[in-house]
Amino acid sequence: MKQTFFATQLFDGSEFRQQQCIEVVDGQVTALFDGSASQAEYCVDGLLVPGFIDVQVNGGGGVLFNNQPSLASLTTMSQAHQTFGTTCMLPTLITDGYPTMSAAADAMAEAIANKLKGVCGIHFEGPHLSQPKKGIHPQNHIRSITDKELALFTRQDLGKVIVTLAPENVTPDVISDLVKQGVLVCLGHSNANAEQVELALHAGATGFTHLYNAMSPLTGREAGMVGIALLDASAYCGLIVDHHHVSQASCKLAIKCKGSDRIMLVTDAMSHVGSEQLTETFLGMEITRKGDKLTIEGGTLAGSALDMASAVRNTHHSLQVPLAQTLQMASLTPAKFLGLEHKFGCIKPGYAADWLSLDTNLQVNRTWISGKQVFAA
Ligand SMILES: [Zn+2]
Repeated sequence: MKQTFFATQLFDGSEFRQQQCIEVVDGQVTALFDGSASQAEYCVDGLLVPGFIDVQVNGGGGVLFNNQPSLASLTTMSQAHQTFGTTCMLPTLITDGYPTMSAAADAMAEAIANKLKGVCGIHFEGPHLSQPKKGIHPQNHIRSITDKELALFTRQDLGKVIVTLAPENVTPDVISDLVKQGVLVCLGHSNANAEQVELALHAGATGFTHLYNAMSPLTGREAGMVGIALLDASAYCGLIVDHHHVSQASCKLAIKCKGSDRIMLVTDAMSHVGSEQLTETFLGMEITRKGDKLTIEGGTLAGSALDMASAVRNTHHSLQVPLAQTLQMASLTPAKFLGLEHKFGCIKPGYAADWLSLDTNLQVNRTWISGKQVFAA
C-alpha cells in the first residue's frame, strides 16, 4: 500500500526541513522530497518528528507488567504510551520470582510473533542487583544468576533483550557470554567501584540504567559507577528527566559529558501513566501518585509518572537543550543503543513510518506506527 504525507515542518533525525512530501510503501518510507500539500493525501498538523523510543517502561494505562505479565497488558501499555508519542518500547520487568520472569518472556514472545505495534523487546531490570542499591526492588527476589535465568535472557524469540545487572554480583565472564548471545547488558542498581564497572564495560556492557539513581556516586577518591558512566565515551545512559529523580544541574552535567548521542531519555513509567489511577500495589507495597511523583510509604521514589512527551518538554524547556538534540535523545540515540538505527529514529527513506506530530508547546497531536495513525488528540 502506498501513502503520501505532507509536513510543513519536520525533523528528519538530523535536521529540520520545511515543506516535505513523504512517500510510504507498506509502512516504510521510500522517498522524502520538497513538495506541496496538493501532492499528498494526508497533511500533517504541527511538527513531524521520529517516534519516541523508551527502553524502560514498567507499566502504563493502569497496568503494571510485573502484576499482569500477559499479551493483553503489553497491548494496554503500548497503547497508553502511544498517546505520548512512544512508537517503540521495551516493557520492563522489575526484580521478581522466576515464574513471573518466565510469564513475562512468554508474553513478549507472543507479542513479537503477533507483531504487536509499539514493542520491540523486553527489559529485565534485575534480579541480579545489589541489595544496598535495591530501591523498590523486592529484597527477597534479588539473587545470583543461575543457568535458568541465563537460558531465559538468551531466548531468541523475545526481540531485543536488555538485562540490567549489578557488576559486583555478576562476573565479567557471564556478562561477556550474555553479550555474545545478543543480550544488551546495562549496569545499574549497583554499588560497584570504578574498577568493577570498567571490567564490566570491557566485558561488553554498553549501557547504564537510570544514570545517578541507585548507583555508586562520584567522589574524589572513588569515581563510582556515576563517574565511569560519565567518563566513558561509548556507553549509553538512560536518564529520567522528571525533575524528581535527577536535579537539573546533574542532568545538564550528564548531557555535557556524554552528548545527545549517548544520553537516552527514559520514563521508568509505572502503571499510573496514561491512566487516572492513584495507587498500585506491587508485592505488598502501595505505590501512590501525588501530582507527577510516585512514592512508597516513607517517601522512596517508586518509578515515575513520566511520559516521553513530558521528558522531551522538560529537557527542552527546563534544561534548555536545543530541540534537535532533545529529539535525538528521545529517538535516534535509543535506536542506536538497540542496534535499530537503520530502522528507527529518522524520517528518511528506508526507515519505518513511525512518527508523531507535536504542537508548538510540544504536546502530541497524533502518532503513527508503520504509516498507520494509532493516536489522535
Ligand atoms: Zn530502577
